[in-house]
Amino acid sequence: MSASRLLLLGPPGAGKGTQAAILIERLRVPQISTGDMLRDAVARKTEIGLKAQAVMERGDLVPDEIVIGIAEERLRQSDAERGFILDGFPRTLAQAEALDRLLEKLGRPLQKCIAISVDEDELVARLLKRAEIEGRSDDDEATIRNRMQVYREQTEPLVNHYRGQGIAHEVKGKGSVEDVEQRILEALGG
Ligand code: AMP
Repeated sequence: MSASRLLLLGPPGAGKGTQAAILIERLRVPQISTGDMLRDAVARKTEIGLKAQAVMERGDLVPDEIVIGIAEERLRQSDAERGFILDGFPRTLAQAEALDRLLEKLGRPLQKCIAISVDEDELVARLLKRAEIEGRSDDDEATIRNRMQVYREQTEPLVNHYRGQGIAHEVKGKGSVEDVEQRILEALGG
């Protein structure tokens, strides 16, 4: 398994975060989650956090320039030289294009995009369960449905973007965490 610059793409609740956490152990590269960075900014009440909070609570997307800025800053840190697992970024075509430009400039292009697919009712059920466990404020049903729609409209088209680059691998997100992990490992090995 040689690829170390990966993107996990998939709707909210598809298991990106869980799978990213498994992969960082195997690959020894950092997980880069803009969602985690934004939640941290909200908790610390930074300028970015204050701008992002209401948008996140509605389940809408934080403006591209903010997210691109934090992702770029993170990707330029030295621990990302060995590789990285992007989780939740990019989410729009403008973000994907900015990422392509940055990684090209750094001479470290993305190697694989793993697109995890799960049907919507299963996703909503999983997210409502996560809401109970984690108490995330963007996990009530109306917000979840909005996040799904935002995903379908703005993020799903990125699969095509990466297909065009010949690096997209589609993986079914059904079944246990281990089932999905196995499918991802197969996609990475191939
Ligand atoms: P996540 O934990 O990845 O589901 O992200 C939680 C929320 O943070 C999303 O619903 C968005 O409001 C915001 N967010 C995270 N990543 C991005 C991104 N790449 N672009 C825009 N908004 C983002």
